[in-house]
Amino acid sequence: MQQMIHSIGRKLVDAVFPPQCPSCMALVETHGFLCPQCWGQIKFIETPWCACCGVPLEFDSGPESLCLACMRDPPSYERARAVMLYGDFSRSLILKFKHADRLDPAPAYAGWMARAGSDLLADADLVAPVPLHWRRLFSRRFNQSAVLGKAVARLAEKPFCADLLVRTRQTPSQGRLTRNQRGKNVAGAFALNARWKERVEARRVLLIDDVLTTGATAEHCARTLLRAGASAVDVLTLARVALPGR
Ligand SMILES: [Zn+2]
Ligand SMILES: [Zn+2]
Repeated sequence: MQQMIHSIGRKLVDAVFPPQCPSCMALVETHGFLCPQCWGQIKFIETPWCACCGVPLEFDSGPESLCLACMRDPPSYERARAVMLYGDFSRSLILKFKHADRLDPAPAYAGWMARAGSDLLADADLVAPVPLHWRRLFSRRFNQSAVLGKAVARLAEKPFCADLLVRTRQTPSQGRLTRNQRGKNVAGAFALNARWKERVEARRVLLIDDVLTTGATAEHCARTLLRAGASAVDVLTLARVALPGR
């Protein structure tokens, strides 16, 4: 009976909102899934990659290989992994997800992330999103990293804490800034939510964000968590740029 109600409910939803490709809006079979043409445009990240920041490497010299940037100046987080490379296609996919009213691609994206970050998830004690400033949260209506993080945590059956980190001041949008400016822009922008002090102590935290660009945000969040007593921090994103990040 319950299943029947569920299936009728599903059909009603499908009739009102027929499943559409979240990228090109073509009709598809299942909610949140890309059409075959768009699927083919995703540049999934494959090994070999840097064991630390996860940037794709040109040569395979073993699973412990590091990129030059991580060798010279290791980031505070231990490992960063991402599903796909950040480019024209993934940029528009993520922008549509950020600014759309419908969250139906979230489960599919979270499934990809759970697969790309399976090692990180297996080790994680706690999953938490990179926070969005409340003013931006208000204008955008939801924090896409929290939506992804919650779905990823549910898939892996790990505890999720939506407000583990908070923004202490609003940072100007990162879009037009250089790497150096971005570093300055986010320095001191995050703090541990005082409510969750004990949840972090000696725990391994997996941070979730939509994109890893320069890595400045991941770096500052990781430092904040380590300072608060976390044993280690990993980072999982939907996309990342092809350059090393820290
Ligand atoms: Zn499509
Ligand atoms: Zn690296």
